[in-house]
Amino acid sequence: MPVSDTNPDLALYIHWPFCRQKCPYCDFNSHVRTTHDSAEFGTALCLEMSYMAKMLADRRALTSIFFGGGTPSLMPPAVIGKIIAHAEKIFGFAPTIEITAEANPTSVEAKIMTEFYHAGVNRVSMGVQSLDNDILKFLGREHDVAEALSALDTVRHSFDNLSIDLIYATAGQTLNDWQNTLSQALAFDLPHLSLYQLTIEPGTVFYTRQRNGETLNLDDDHAADLFELTQHITAAAGLPAYEISNHGKPTAQCQHNMNYWRAGDWIGIGPGAHGRFTIAADEYKNLQRVGTATRRSPAGWLQSVQKTGHGIDNRTHDGADAFAAEMIMMGLRLTTGVSIQQIETICGPRGEWLDDAAVTQAIEDGWLDRNQSNDSGMVTDLRATDAGRLRLNHIIAMILR
Ligand code: SF4
Repeated sequence: MPVSDTNPDLALYIHWPFCRQKCPYCDFNSHVRTTHDSAEFGTALCLEMSYMAKMLADRRALTSIFFGGGTPSLMPPAVIGKIIAHAEKIFGFAPTIEITAEANPTSVEAKIMTEFYHAGVNRVSMGVQSLDNDILKFLGREHDVAEALSALDTVRHSFDNLSIDLIYATAGQTLNDWQNTLSQALAFDLPHLSLYQLTIEPGTVFYTRQRNGETLNLDDDHAADLFELTQHITAAAGLPAYEISNHGKPTAQCQHNMNYWRAGDWIGIGPGAHGRFTIAADEYKNLQRVGTATRRSPAGWLQSVQKTGHGIDNRTHDGADAFAAEMIMMGLRLTTGVSIQQIETICGPRGEWLDDAAVTQAIEDGWLDRNQSNDSGMVTDLRATDAGRLRLNHIIAMILR
């Protein structure tokens, strides 16, 4: 099948669901298993990729691949190589393709990253999570600060495009504590940082502990102070926020995640993976956004793929209104915001999905900024302010019909 390099971008997400242990704050689809056959899972991932490729209306070159989890750095490099080769065979690669693998910062995994590089991975996102041993212990992480720094040093030899994740706003963390951690991280002169506030998610060990009366994270006001500090320090260091939790040099923004936030097309494979892509987009009245979700259980997913070629257990078909809502919800996470005019071109008249009076109110409240057309006085572009990005769910509920 011919491959075209025309827009929109097409991304591929691969979920590797296995971890060595379960962290108490984690609500990802991750499972502690030692008995699975990695090669068998690799073969099944390729099978499901081929199945999903056939669902697309057209075949396009991939612009990004992301190995997430779980812990992809536990994958054998040969399995990573096989999946990348299969993706190139069935889709083709755009010349600037970004291929990311998430990794934990242990010494063993850091060494394996060199083999990932030779298998085709060109970006690494390391789950460092903290540069404070007490917080790492609280978060139930396997590594300590010394091991994380040493792993970072090893991985830098192979990868220029390197990001680390840090978690902040843990109970008792002061502005000073966080400033120290951020300064240490910035001293590495990395091109990208992902900085997440600790949130307590249902189904996690932390959730149970919180319900039993423990305080595990900062209250909203203190967390907002740390968020504000984060914006200042990272901007001054040349890594401004480009999304709520993501900071990078302009040339190092994560292309794969940018595609999600721009409501682009992506295929998701592996246990518990989600995908979304648009078909029949030429005429907005016929537009359909297909959503897929696969079985979460690794064993159940494997069995389904081996039997039917895919592990999809939920498929949705959204129309133009739902697609407009997705574009606004995802796009307002970005500091650049969204083009209302562009959404109208794809999804039809704004009156069907946007409440202009509520938009005006949110602008007056200081949560949104706008550009407006001189001719019509209507809002053409919308972006959330720093204050607005902290209460995005509320604003979105306000402004969408
Ligand atoms: S290593 Fe990552 S995916 Fe695995 S349990 Fe911990 S936070 Fe979750």
